[in-house]
Amino acid sequence: MSLDAIVAAVKARGLKITPQRLEILRVLAAAEEPLTAQEILRAVRATQPQVSLDTIYRNLALLTEQGLIGQVNLQNRESARYELQSEGRHHHHMVCLGCGKSFCVELCPSALTTVRPREDPGFKVVGHAFEVYGYCSNCQ
Ligand SMILES: [Zn+2]
Ligand SMILES: [Zn+2]
Ligand SMILES: [Zn+2]
Repeated sequence: MSLDAIVAAVKARGLKITPQRLEILRVLAAAEEPLTAQEILRAVRATQPQVSLDTIYRNLALLTEQGLIGQVNLQNRESARYELQSEGRHHHHMVCLGCGKSFCVELCPSALTTVRPREDPGFKVVGHAFEVYGYCSNCQ
């Protein structure tokens, strides 16, 4: 997905393109694999030296909420990695517990988002997370 297409998708959601946000998107668009917030921070600081880790996290949370980026390694914030999630390519990941490598899988257990808890049938769903853990062929 080109940077122009991502920027258009961000604008279509009514979000402003701040210099930091543009830089985060540029870094993710150029990445070969999902990046941690620290890796994104280091890359963004090349052009925006004053950017803070908090700003990176705030932007990543917002873009994730909007479905524009996907999160890998959901277990904790420090090991979480992020990648662009282009329109219509919503997907999930299998994560190797040995080497940390993640693999994209196209299947989505979206049936879970259509059920409602018995205690609160009016529960409003705005997003979901799902991840499979195991060992890759190299680590078995
Ligand atoms: Zn592995
Ligand atoms: Zn992926
Ligand atoms: Zn899904």
